[in-house]
Amino acid sequence: MNFFSSPLIATSACLGQRICRYNQEELDSPLPETVLPYIQLRSFCPEEQAGLGTPRKPLQTRWDGELSITQPPSHKNLLPILEQGANEILETLGPVDGVILKSKSPSCGLGDHRVASSEGLGQTLFRSGVFAELLCRSSKVMIPVTEKRLQTKWGLQLWLAGVFQLAQLKGLAQGLQTFERFHQQQTRLLQGMGKLEVLSDLLGDFEEYRNQFARAFWDDVESSTFLKNLKSQKTCVSPETQRSGDLRQILWSPEQPGANYPYPLGIFETTSANSNS
Ligand code: SF4
Repeated sequence: MNFFSSPLIATSACLGQRICRYNQEELDSPLPETVLPYIQLRSFCPEEQAGLGTPRKPLQTRWDGELSITQPPSHKNLLPILEQGANEILETLGPVDGVILKSKSPSCGLGDHRVASSEGLGQTLFRSGVFAELLCRSSKVMIPVTEKRLQTKWGLQLWLAGVFQLAQLKGLAQGLQTFERFHQQQTRLLQGMGKLEVLSDLLGDFEEYRNQFARAFWDDVESSTFLKNLKSQKTCVSPETQRSGDLRQILWSPEQPGANYPYPLGIFETTSANSNS
Protein backbone atom coordinates (compact mmCIF):
# COMPACT_ATOMS: atom_id res chain seq x y z
CA MET A 1 0.00 0.00 0.00
CA ASN A 2 1.34 3.46 -0.90
CA PHE A 3 0.35 6.67 0.84
CA PHE A 4 0.89 10.05 -0.76
CA SER A 5 1.19 13.50 0.70
CA SER A 6 -1.08 15.88 -1.17
CA PRO A 7 1.15 18.29 -3.15
CA LEU A 8 0.35 21.98 -3.21
CA ILE A 9 0.20 23.07 -6.85
CA ALA A 10 -0.21 26.64 -8.06
CA THR A 11 -1.18 27.46 -11.62
CA SER A 12 -1.47 30.48 -13.87
CA ALA A 13 -5.16 31.22 -13.47
CA CYS A 14 -5.82 31.53 -17.22
CA LEU A 15 -5.08 27.79 -17.55
CA GLY A 16 -8.60 26.61 -16.92
CA GLN A 17 -9.24 28.43 -13.64
CA ARG A 18 -10.40 31.91 -14.58
CA ILE A 19 -10.88 34.15 -17.61
CA CYS A 20 -8.03 36.59 -17.05
CA ARG A 21 -6.06 36.71 -20.31
CA TYR A 22 -5.61 40.11 -21.91
CA ASN A 23 -8.08 39.14 -24.66
CA GLN A 24 -10.39 37.06 -22.38
CA GLU A 25 -9.50 33.86 -24.26
CA GLU A 26 -10.52 30.68 -22.43
CA LEU A 27 -7.84 28.02 -22.07
CA ASP A 28 -8.02 24.46 -20.72
CA SER A 29 -6.10 23.24 -17.71
CA PRO A 30 -3.31 20.81 -18.65
CA LEU A 31 -4.18 18.70 -15.59
CA PRO A 32 -6.51 15.73 -16.06
CA GLU A 33 -9.51 15.79 -13.75
CA THR A 34 -8.39 12.50 -12.22
CA VAL A 35 -5.49 14.29 -10.52
CA LEU A 36 -7.68 16.82 -8.69
CA PRO A 37 -8.70 14.60 -5.72
CA TYR A 38 -5.01 14.08 -4.91
CA ILE A 39 -3.72 17.67 -4.93
CA GLN A 40 -4.36 21.10 -3.42
CA LEU A 41 -4.72 23.61 -6.26
CA ARG A 42 -4.27 27.40 -6.13
CA SER A 43 -4.25 29.92 -8.93
CA PHE A 44 -2.74 33.35 -9.53
CA CYS A 45 -2.71 36.04 -12.21
CA PRO A 46 0.25 38.42 -11.88
CA GLU A 47 -1.13 40.96 -14.36
CA GLU A 48 -4.46 41.24 -12.54
CA GLN A 49 -2.55 41.41 -9.26
CA ALA A 50 -0.63 44.36 -10.70
CA GLY A 51 -3.98 46.09 -11.27
CA LEU A 52 -4.00 45.86 -15.07
CA GLY A 53 -7.55 44.47 -15.28
CA THR A 54 -9.19 42.12 -17.81
CA PRO A 55 -9.50 42.69 -20.72
CA ARG A 56 -6.37 44.78 -21.20
CA LYS A 57 -4.02 45.85 -23.98
CA PRO A 58 -1.23 43.29 -24.57
CA LEU A 59 2.15 43.91 -22.97
CA GLN A 60 5.39 44.29 -24.87
CA THR A 61 8.77 43.47 -23.35
CA ARG A 62 11.88 45.28 -24.66
CA TRP A 63 15.55 44.86 -23.92
CA ASP A 64 17.68 47.84 -24.91
CA GLY A 65 20.42 47.48 -22.34
CA GLU A 66 17.72 47.46 -19.71
CA LEU A 67 14.35 45.80 -19.47
CA SER A 68 11.07 47.61 -19.97
CA ILE A 69 7.50 46.38 -20.26
CA THR A 70 4.93 48.66 -21.81
CA GLN A 71 1.36 48.51 -22.96
CA PRO A 72 1.58 50.19 -26.42
CA PRO A 73 0.71 52.82 -27.43
CA SER A 74 1.65 53.95 -23.90
CA HIS A 75 5.39 54.21 -23.22
CA LYS A 76 5.02 53.91 -19.43
CA ASN A 77 7.33 51.23 -18.03
CA LEU A 78 5.13 48.80 -16.08
CA LEU A 79 8.01 46.64 -14.83
CA PRO A 80 7.95 48.04 -11.25
CA ILE A 81 4.23 47.38 -10.73
CA LEU A 82 4.49 43.93 -12.33
CA GLU A 83 7.36 43.08 -9.98
CA GLN A 84 5.37 44.34 -7.03
CA GLY A 85 2.33 42.23 -8.05
CA ALA A 86 4.57 39.18 -8.54
CA ASN A 87 6.15 39.61 -5.11
CA GLU A 88 2.72 39.93 -3.49
CA ILE A 89 1.70 36.60 -5.05
CA LEU A 90 4.94 34.93 -3.97
CA GLU A 91 4.37 36.05 -0.38
CA THR A 92 0.95 34.40 -0.23
CA LEU A 93 1.55 31.34 -2.39
CA GLY A 94 2.61 29.08 0.47
CA PRO A 95 4.96 26.08 0.33
CA VAL A 96 4.17 25.05 -3.23
CA ASP A 97 5.55 21.80 -4.64
CA GLY A 98 4.77 22.50 -8.29
CA VAL A 99 3.89 25.60 -10.32
CA ILE A 100 2.24 25.44 -13.75
CA LEU A 101 3.01 28.53 -15.84
CA LYS A 102 1.41 29.80 -19.04
CA SER A 103 4.05 29.58 -21.73
CA LYS A 104 5.28 32.66 -23.63
CA SER A 105 3.53 35.17 -21.37
CA PRO A 106 5.35 38.41 -20.38
CA SER A 107 4.52 37.52 -16.77
CA CYS A 108 4.30 33.73 -16.60
CA GLY A 109 6.47 32.47 -19.52
CA LEU A 110 9.30 30.17 -18.50
CA GLY A 111 12.31 31.09 -20.63
CA ASP A 112 10.11 31.31 -23.71
CA HIS A 113 8.77 34.86 -23.70
CA ARG A 114 9.85 36.71 -26.84
CA VAL A 115 11.60 40.01 -26.17
CA ALA A 116 11.86 42.89 -28.66
CA SER A 117 15.34 44.35 -28.87
CA SER A 118 17.46 46.68 -30.90
CA GLU A 119 20.48 44.56 -29.90
CA GLY A 120 21.51 41.17 -31.28
CA LEU A 121 20.27 41.88 -34.81
CA GLY A 122 19.02 38.76 -36.54
CA GLN A 123 18.67 36.93 -33.23
CA THR A 124 15.46 36.36 -31.31
CA LEU A 125 15.73 36.99 -27.60
CA PHE A 126 13.75 34.98 -25.10
CA ARG A 127 13.49 35.31 -21.33
CA SER A 128 11.18 34.30 -18.52
CA GLY A 129 8.24 36.49 -17.65
CA VAL A 130 8.44 38.80 -14.65
CA PHE A 131 6.61 36.47 -12.25
CA ALA A 132 8.33 33.29 -13.48
CA GLU A 133 11.75 34.94 -13.13
CA LEU A 134 11.11 35.98 -9.52
CA LEU A 135 9.59 32.59 -8.70
CA CYS A 136 12.64 30.72 -9.98
CA ARG A 137 15.00 33.04 -8.08
CA SER A 138 12.98 32.72 -4.85
CA SER A 139 13.77 30.28 -2.06
CA LYS A 140 10.71 28.16 -2.86
CA VAL A 141 11.49 24.47 -3.24
CA MET A 142 9.22 23.60 -6.15
CA ILE A 143 9.14 22.33 -9.70
CA PRO A 144 8.04 24.88 -12.32
CA VAL A 145 6.65 23.74 -15.65
CA THR A 146 4.68 25.19 -18.55
CA GLU A 147 1.43 23.75 -19.82
CA LYS A 148 3.31 22.76 -23.02
CA ARG A 149 5.42 20.20 -21.18
CA LEU A 150 2.30 18.68 -19.62
CA GLN A 151 0.64 18.12 -22.99
CA THR A 152 2.38 14.77 -23.49
CA LYS A 153 1.70 11.82 -21.23
CA TRP A 154 5.44 11.43 -20.62
CA GLY A 155 5.90 15.08 -19.61
CA LEU A 156 2.88 14.92 -17.33
CA GLN A 157 3.99 11.65 -15.70
CA LEU A 158 7.49 12.91 -15.00
CA TRP A 159 6.36 16.23 -13.52
CA LEU A 160 3.73 14.49 -11.36
CA ALA A 161 6.37 12.02 -10.16
CA GLY A 162 8.53 14.99 -9.16
CA VAL A 163 5.82 16.92 -7.30
CA PHE A 164 4.33 13.92 -5.49
CA GLN A 165 7.74 12.69 -4.37
CA LEU A 166 8.82 16.22 -3.42
CA ALA A 167 5.71 16.60 -1.23
CA GLN A 168 6.59 13.25 0.36
CA LEU A 169 10.17 14.39 0.92
CA LYS A 170 9.14 17.70 2.51
CA GLY A 171 6.97 15.78 4.98
CA LEU A 172 9.81 13.51 6.15
CA ALA A 173 11.30 13.98 9.59
CA GLN A 174 14.95 15.04 9.25
CA GLY A 175 17.06 11.98 9.90
CA LEU A 176 19.73 10.24 7.89
CA GLN A 177 17.98 6.85 7.92
CA THR A 178 14.68 8.34 6.74
CA PHE A 179 16.40 10.22 3.92
CA GLU A 180 18.42 7.16 2.93
CA ARG A 181 15.26 5.06 2.72
CA PHE A 182 13.55 7.75 0.60
CA HIS A 183 16.65 8.03 -1.61
CA GLN A 184 16.80 4.29 -2.10
CA GLN A 185 13.16 4.21 -3.16
CA GLN A 186 13.93 6.90 -5.76
CA THR A 187 16.87 5.01 -7.27
CA ARG A 188 15.34 4.33 -10.68
CA LEU A 189 13.64 7.71 -10.95
CA LEU A 190 16.87 9.56 -10.16
CA GLN A 191 18.92 7.29 -12.41
CA GLY A 192 16.58 8.11 -15.29
CA MET A 193 16.86 11.83 -14.56
CA GLY A 194 20.67 11.44 -14.47
CA LYS A 195 20.80 12.82 -10.90
CA LEU A 196 21.37 9.77 -8.68
CA GLU A 197 25.02 10.48 -7.94
CA VAL A 198 24.57 14.21 -7.29
CA LEU A 199 21.84 13.47 -4.76
CA SER A 200 23.69 10.55 -3.17
CA ASP A 201 26.45 13.04 -2.29
CA LEU A 202 23.94 15.31 -0.52
CA LEU A 203 22.35 12.78 1.82
CA GLY A 204 23.72 14.41 4.98
CA ASP A 205 22.53 17.90 3.97
CA PHE A 206 18.74 17.72 4.21
CA GLU A 207 18.00 21.24 2.97
CA GLU A 208 20.25 21.00 -0.07
CA TYR A 209 18.99 17.48 -0.81
CA ARG A 210 15.41 18.84 -1.01
CA ASN A 211 16.53 21.74 -3.22
CA GLN A 212 18.43 19.55 -5.61
CA PHE A 213 15.71 16.90 -5.68
CA ALA A 214 13.27 19.57 -6.89
CA ARG A 215 15.87 20.97 -9.34
CA ALA A 216 16.31 17.50 -10.85
CA PHE A 217 12.85 17.93 -12.41
CA TRP A 218 13.24 21.48 -13.74
CA ASP A 219 14.53 20.30 -17.10
CA ASP A 220 12.47 18.37 -19.58
CA VAL A 221 13.99 14.88 -19.88
CA GLU A 222 12.74 13.00 -22.94
CA SER A 223 11.73 9.36 -22.46
CA SER A 224 14.57 8.26 -24.79
CA THR A 225 17.13 10.08 -22.59
CA PHE A 226 15.54 8.67 -19.43
CA LEU A 227 15.81 5.11 -20.79
CA LYS A 228 19.37 5.72 -22.02
CA ASN A 229 20.36 6.92 -18.53
CA LEU A 230 18.84 3.79 -16.98
CA LYS A 231 20.69 1.59 -19.46
CA SER A 232 24.00 3.29 -18.71
CA GLN A 233 23.46 2.38 -15.02
CA LYS A 234 22.85 -1.23 -16.10
CA THR A 235 19.19 -1.04 -15.06
CA CYS A 236 17.11 -3.34 -17.22
CA VAL A 237 13.78 -2.35 -18.72
CA SER A 238 12.09 -4.80 -21.06
CA PRO A 239 11.52 -3.66 -24.67
CA GLU A 240 7.76 -4.00 -24.14
CA THR A 241 7.85 -1.70 -21.09
CA GLN A 242 10.04 0.77 -22.98
CA ARG A 243 7.48 0.90 -25.75
CA SER A 244 4.62 1.47 -23.29
CA GLY A 245 6.08 4.85 -22.25
CA ASP A 246 4.48 4.17 -18.85
CA LEU A 247 6.68 5.66 -16.15
CA ARG A 248 5.18 3.50 -13.41
CA GLN A 249 6.07 0.32 -15.29
CA ILE A 250 9.53 1.64 -16.14
CA LEU A 251 10.23 2.35 -12.46
CA TRP A 252 8.95 -1.01 -11.24
CA SER A 253 11.72 -3.25 -10.01
CA PRO A 254 11.62 -6.86 -8.81
CA GLU A 255 13.77 -5.91 -5.78
CA GLN A 256 11.21 -3.32 -4.60
CA PRO A 257 7.92 -4.45 -6.15
CA GLY A 258 5.64 -2.13 -4.15
CA ALA A 259 8.10 0.58 -3.19
CA ASN A 260 8.17 3.00 -6.03
CA TYR A 261 4.81 4.20 -7.25
CA PRO A 262 5.68 7.75 -8.22
CA TYR A 263 2.09 9.07 -8.03
CA PRO A 264 -1.33 7.70 -7.05
CA LEU A 265 -2.48 4.83 -9.21
CA GLY A 266 -5.88 6.36 -9.95
CA ILE A 267 -4.51 9.30 -11.96
CA PHE A 268 -3.89 7.43 -15.18
CA GLU A 269 -6.32 4.57 -14.76
CA THR A 270 -9.45 6.18 -16.14
CA THR A 271 -8.26 9.13 -18.19
CA SER A 272 -7.84 8.95 -21.92
CA ALA A 273 -6.77 12.60 -22.09
CA ASN A 274 -3.12 13.50 -22.55
CA SER A 275 -2.44 10.46 -24.71
CA ASN A 276 1.20 9.66 -25.25
CA SER A 277 2.80 11.67 -28.00
S1 SF4 B 1 -0.37 34.22 -18.42
FE1 SF4 B 1 -0.19 34.82 -16.27
S2 SF4 B 1 -0.50 37.03 -16.28
FE2 SF4 B 1 -1.24 36.26 -18.24
S3 SF4 B 1 -3.41 35.90 -17.94
FE3 SF4 B 1 -2.37 33.99 -17.50
S4 SF4 B 1 -2.05 34.04 -15.30
FE4 SF4 B 1 -2.50 36.11 -15.92
